[in-house]
Amino acid sequence: MSSITSLNKKISNCKKCPRLAVYIRDVAKNKVRRFKDEKYYGKPLSGFGDINARLLIIGLAPAAHGGNRTGRMFTGDSSGDWLAKVMHKHGFASIPTSQSRDDGLTLKNAYITAAVRCAPPQNKPTKDEMNTCFQYLEKEKEILTKVTTILCLGKIGYEAACKLFEVKPEKFGHNKLFKYDHIQILTSYHPSKQNTQTGRLTWSQWSSVFAKAKRLVK
Ligand code: SF4
Repeated sequence: MSSITSLNKKISNCKKCPRLAVYIRDVAKNKVRRFKDEKYYGKPLSGFGDINARLLIIGLAPAAHGGNRTGRMFTGDSSGDWLAKVMHKHGFASIPTSQSRDDGLTLKNAYITAAVRCAPPQNKPTKDEMNTCFQYLEKEKEILTKVTTILCLGKIGYEAACKLFEVKPEKFGHNKLFKYDHIQILTSYHPSKQNTQTGRLTWSQWSSVFAKAKRLVK
């Protein structure tokens, strides 16, 4: 079994955070009305994409009715729609949508992961949960040896990236680039509905970040 397959298997069986293990199972059992006929995945999510990628994208955590339902990060919700569309536009994704695990989406030169692998209540993992889940990010870093650039979606993803590459976090903001000898870290607001529907993150700001990421990993 390849190292990424074995890591992903370990992640999907993880129950190290009791609160989250119960929560994702409960969400999967007590579905929202709009997805009442669907079978929820309801397990921790591994990352996905091109394991030879130079770009590593780090988000916060799966969404309760997005990734936790479909079984793939950034899939089946509006954040996933924004991400797939922009990645397709800039040549990182094979299709402009991300609807289900078997929709045929493949990534080129990019790998998507998150600071926390279980959907947390109110999208807020605790410090302990983030610290516990950090080991999986470390394992991915060991496996994804070609990564030169991290794109962090949101402050929690940024802090996880700084911890992973042992650099001091700077003030978080949209479209900031921090260059170090061993890594470059690019930041973006998260494409959550709270940001995209309020105008805090516009399509043009979002697309600019990926245009920059594209130049950085050429
Ligand atoms: S958040 Fe991470 S460490 Fe905690 S149970 Fe889920 S996969 Fe395991």
